[in-house]
Amino acid sequence: IGGIAKVAPLHIIHVAIEMAPIAKVGGLGDVVTSLSRAVQDLGHKVDIILPKYDCLKFNHVNDFHHHVSFGWGGTEIKVWHGKVEGLSVYFLESQNGMFDVGCVYGRNNDGDRFQFFCHAALEFILQSGLRPDILHCHDWSSAPVAWLFKEHYKHDGLASARVIFTIHNLEYGIHQIGKAMIYTDKATTVSYTYSKEVSQNPVISAHLYKFHGIVNGIDPDLWDPYNDNFIPVSYTSENVVVGKNAAKEALQKRLGLNNSNHPLIGIITRLTVQKGIHLIKHAIWRTLECNGQVVLLGSAPDPRIQNDFINLANQLHSSHSGRVRLCLAYDEPLSHLIYAGADFILVPSLFEPCGLTQLVAMRYGSIPVVRKTGGLYDTVFDVDDDKERAQSLGLEPNGFSFEGTSSSGFDYALNRAISAWYHSREWFNLLCKRVMEQDWSWNRPALDYIELYYAARK
Ligand code: ADP
Repeated sequence: IGGIAKVAPLHIIHVAIEMAPIAKVGGLGDVVTSLSRAVQDLGHKVDIILPKYDCLKFNHVNDFHHHVSFGWGGTEIKVWHGKVEGLSVYFLESQNGMFDVGCVYGRNNDGDRFQFFCHAALEFILQSGLRPDILHCHDWSSAPVAWLFKEHYKHDGLASARVIFTIHNLEYGIHQIGKAMIYTDKATTVSYTYSKEVSQNPVISAHLYKFHGIVNGIDPDLWDPYNDNFIPVSYTSENVVVGKNAAKEALQKRLGLNNSNHPLIGIITRLTVQKGIHLIKHAIWRTLECNGQVVLLGSAPDPRIQNDFINLANQLHSSHSGRVRLCLAYDEPLSHLIYAGADFILVPSLFEPCGLTQLVAMRYGSIPVVRKTGGLYDTVFDVDDDKERAQSLGLEPNGFSFEGTSSSGFDYALNRAISAWYHSREWFNLLCKRVMEQDWSWNRPALDYIELYYAARK
């Protein structure tokens, strides 16, 4: 890394189908934006190519204008350009209406739509004379960039570009991921422990020599309790108790919870099997038994799971009125208020490539309670069990964690967390201050990516 400052800056183009905050479904969208901003801040040129969905949040796009059009794939591709969070973004609009379907995912031809997008993106790069050093593609959805590039575009005036492929979740689109792993110059996944957990997978195991785990960060400007329009009082680690109490009160008021002095547990998640649904349900009941309050913000792509939670919400809202609220929707502003107003954020995932919620939680002084897996293992260090592991990395312990998938295992973490809140409040408040002061930004991981970009060019 020492020599980086002396060599030429790179031009990186991300081809992605999610981008926060204009087209975010999960962590992939956050990473595309925040990694790009961090790399750009280090002096490199970054562009992002994204589909022009009809459901884009255009109010976050500045200087939006038509850039160029070209005929391709039996239709016309209209390219728009704009700035999102200070990043240069090209939006591809296909006149065949492929991205005018009201959502990012969720159509039965998602695979075809995204492959069409990847191909159009490469065609745009070629035709417009952009000559990137690095093409960075993500997950199954932009995996086709890797093989399309190597088979059709590498020799077509784009010879000097190298492909980086990042796996944010191996659970989806294994076939596309397998094809990208073969063709990409370097591959990454989003934490060291997840990279080890998936290393025996047949699509990965043959490529370990070019496969690296780099933990995700969060953007400290986009998640900043000192500068956040969605919370009532700005705060830093110096006035964390005041700031969080105000946020808790606002959250209780907004969701019709009692304004009482009890521990408040927050859960912000896609409701999928990955996220440990039985453990989430268990934690709700257990917290209520301990006289705590619970706020869950989550939505389920699977209607059966969504209905199951609607039933649970109806049951809980009447049996434990004023103490629990399940908000079964996607709501970015509310998520900020929960991160700030909760005492704990639970992440009991069965597997978790990195996980961003625990990192955002800490930025807002909420204590993570997590299952020891993937990136959760790499970023959360149990106050009782992981002191040495944390110290070997120059960190102090920062949360509660557990192993296994049983509810009693989860209780081991949850009980200690709630009990610390009731019985060791001063210690607990110091812990909130401490987690806010830890650096889970892209400062270090962005350097790792840049080093990898240079390594790909050797
Ligand atoms: P994944 O990518 O598997 O969904 P991550 O933890 O990597 O999980 O990222 C989740 C991101 O999505 C976080 O920024 C989190 O705050 C956000 N998020 C998840 N569910 C919701 C929701 N219902 N409303 C608002 N934000 C949500």
